[in-house]
Amino acid sequence: MTTAVREVSVFGDGIAYFNEAADLLELDSGMRRILTHPSRQIIFSIPFQRDSGEFEVYTGYRVQYNFARGPAKGGIRYHPGVTLDEVTALAFWMTWKCAVVDLPFGGGKGGVTCDPSTLSMNELERITRRYAAELVEVVGPDKDIPAPDVNTTPQVMAWFMDTYSMHVRQNVPGVVTGKPLEIGGSRGRVEATGRGVTICALDEMHQMGLVPDQTRVIVQGFGNVGLYAAKLFSERGCKVCGISDVTGAFYNSEGIDVPLAIDHAVKNRSLEGFKGGDRISNTELLTGDCDVLVPAALEKVFTSENAPKVKAKLIVEGANGPTTPEADRIFRQNGVVVIPDIMANAGGVTVSYFEWVQDRMGYFWKESEVNERLEDVLLANLGEVRTIKNARNSDFRTAAYALAIDRVVRALKLRGIYA
Ligand code: NAD
Repeated sequence: MTTAVREVSVFGDGIAYFNEAADLLELDSGMRRILTHPSRQIIFSIPFQRDSGEFEVYTGYRVQYNFARGPAKGGIRYHPGVTLDEVTALAFWMTWKCAVVDLPFGGGKGGVTCDPSTLSMNELERITRRYAAELVEVVGPDKDIPAPDVNTTPQVMAWFMDTYSMHVRQNVPGVVTGKPLEIGGSRGRVEATGRGVTICALDEMHQMGLVPDQTRVIVQGFGNVGLYAAKLFSERGCKVCGISDVTGAFYNSEGIDVPLAIDHAVKNRSLEGFKGGDRISNTELLTGDCDVLVPAALEKVFTSENAPKVKAKLIVEGANGPTTPEADRIFRQNGVVVIPDIMANAGGVTVSYFEWVQDRMGYFWKESEVNERLEDVLLANLGEVRTIKNARNSDFRTAAYALAIDRVVRALKLRGIYA
């Protein structure tokens, strides 16, 4: 793929990373061809009625990228920027994410191009039910299991699960994960992605000789991932000196009072008006003074423009695809360590896997059990990635892709290509 195409294509960024790891593995061209094509892409219209009575039509997507290791797995995003390219890239990443932490899933992702901030709860419910109804034949606990992503909540998952269950005439909690506890959710799921980010960060900080109470952290994005990552970093003694959301960024060299920021964000549904730090631009936040930087908003945040100015020693990618390949090259040159998205934010899908297991056996675990198992899974697999990185004199991203691709290729070869 040419550089020009890659600059606009999120999937192109993913393919660039895939190719580097495929080279390391000396993967043959047939396998490369298979693994760089999505198994199935579905696009459909979602007509829905506004509270005013007016009809509108939105576009829905579901991409099932790969099934070699199990049913497709991946979130649903509601955002104005949702496109087929973005959903395909996210489904592609889910394939490697599930494989790198050794879950028995393939990769999938879905989305609706819409702006949820302009929708009432009733409108959101109607869109979600129509979205779920359109997918009844192709999703299910053994086919494809959606989950939350940007702007989709446990409530959205509850509507999805209810709609699917109504259509198939039985209760099927295992069709989605990230549900409320009352209807088959897992304890620890809401915090899981942020928790996973901090588990990976603290483990690598230890390797780098960074002591938590002398470590300054900046978190971009204060939603599900960023909020819990900031909370857990501060609980572990790190100084969270910068936070942001779509409305703006705040910096406090003495450390932000994270519980106060959470309180503000919950009450006001954003950080707008937060008084616990100096207001700075989102661009300044990314290049602000810190040791650890956690992008936890959207993709393509680090580019060739801002990457040279980043001061962090360690970047832990809470978001999917926040670093363009050009920026990644600059980080490598400058010695900035990057724990890639497919590893750093795999805590969410790992606890989603636990939720799916619990739904299928109808027996639910204590939160401490969930958190302990999560830490075991992440540290064991991060350890394997680190071993490959060191043995091949590579970086975390290429090593993580190499481990994941190798696991998917082994599954594909054992099953055989039905061609
Ligand atoms: P969310 O909707 O809960 O939060 C997104 C946050 O980013 C919000 O605070 C929003 O205001 C902020 N934001 C949006 N645009 C911004 C901008 N330009 N500058 C600064 N902040 C901005 O979404 P989330 O679930 O926390 O997901 C965030 C990222 O993490 C996404 O890339 C998602 O794919 C990824 N992710 C989420 C999960 C999960 O379990 N929720 C799991 C793995 C990866």
